[in-house]
Order: sequence, then structure tokens, then C-alpha cells
Amino acid sequence: MHSSVEHIDSHATCCFIFSTMTAKEILDALLSAYGKPPWWSDDPWTVCVQAVLVQHTAWSNVLKTWETYGNLLGVDDVLDASDEELATRIRSCGFAKAKTRTIKALASFYSSLDWDKPFDLEEMRNGLLSLKGIGEESADVILTYAFHLPSFAIDAYTRRLMERLDGRPHGDEELRTFFEEGLGHDVELFGRMHWLILEQGKTHCRAVQDCTGCPLSHACLGKCVEMDGVNGNGNKQADQDSV
Ligand code: SF4
Repeated sequence: MHSSVEHIDSHATCCFIFSTMTAKEILDALLSAYGKPPWWSDDPWTVCVQAVLVQHTAWSNVLKTWETYGNLLGVDDVLDASDEELATRIRSCGFAKAKTRTIKALASFYSSLDWDKPFDLEEMRNGLLSLKGIGEESADVILTYAFHLPSFAIDAYTRRLMERLDGRPHGDEELRTFFEEGLGHDVELFGRMHWLILEQGKTHCRAVQDCTGCPLSHACLGKCVEMDGVNGNGNKQADQDSV
């Protein structure tokens, strides 16, 4: 399914650049290659729980857990369940004890929110970061997809992609500024971009990159040059991502 790129184009105005491409140009190239990705979920609590479950595990394990126990992972179910019951339900996502503690804390936080007034971004971010087990990436994912508050999530895929594109590493704050300014603080664009970078990181810009056919190769300083099966970084091309 391909996107209405034109619609999304109309939101972003800034041209803040530190890489060979602006954030907007990266978004357009990825949208053209992969199409408009779905929103995580329309249900904010589903986003919250899944953002914790997916930590240090594959998305397929989250889906498996959701298929079996999704109807027992609502906010009230979580608050009512004992630690042992909840840990049993989420065990296939790994780190069950730690994730149980985090999801329970998140449920208390979530149920204490006043939904009648607009959420304040900084207050919400600080609240989420105060919960054990919620780091910056999880907090920003939850803010974006659950609460529609524009806080761009930086993950390992983003760091790797931008380091290769620009030929040098960047700190998370620099990356956040690049995307937040470049995408005009637009939460919809943040959500689409995060998902597209994940897609790019699994398809082309993997641990050992596959630059052939990459939608960003025309502007990438780190693209590999094929030489008898060895890429420009001196690595053998791999079949599997090893993230
Ligand atoms: S050209 Fe290669 S290194 Fe550059 S973004 Fe694409 S896959 Fe990554």
C-alpha cells in the first residue's frame, strides 16, 4: 500500500541539515520505497504494553503473546493480576520479571492520567522516564504512538542508518534535533519515519548492509562498493541481519 506522499509533504517545512540529505528527503525516499506504514495501534494502552514487551526481543514474540493473552493484558487486567500471573502471560517475550514490574508501574501511571485536559509533553516524558524499565526510546515511542505527542524516538536502527548516511557517528540529542526540526515537530511524520527506518534497517541497512537497490544509496557516504563479494567496508556480504 503506497502513501499519499503529497499529504505528508505538506506538514514538513524545515530544512535543517547535517547529513547529505534533509530529514524530509529521507522520509520521502523511504516512503517511495516502502509505502506508508500503519500506525502502531489506535489503542494507547496497547502501544504502552507492546512498547515494553518488545524490549530486547523480536516483534514476532510480541505478536505471539498478544494472540494468546492480549485479552488479559488490559489496564485493569494488569492492575488486578498478581506478579506471577502477569509474568506467565508475557513469558515468551523474555525478561518476564522485569517487564512485569515495568508494565505494572506503567498501568498505575496510565490509570492516574487526567484525560480531560491536554497532556504536556515534558511532564509526560519525565513521568514515563521515572518508571523503572522505561528508557528514552520506550518513552518516546509511547509518547508518539500512544499519546500523539511529538518526541522523536532514536533507536539502534536510526543511529546506524544516520552514521552510514553521513559517514560519521552522531549523539542521540543531535539526531533528535535533526529529525524533530527537519520534520517540523509533526507527530504523524515522527511515527511514520520511525517505522520506515525500522523497515530500512531490516531490508537494506542491516548489520552488514545490502546497498544494492537501497533507496538512499544515491546520497549515502557509507554505501558499500562491491568487490568480488566483499563490500566497501571489508565485510563479506551476509544473508541474515544480525541485529
Ligand atoms: S546505501 Fe548502504 S549503507 Fe547507505 S543507507 Fe543504504 S544500505 Fe545503508
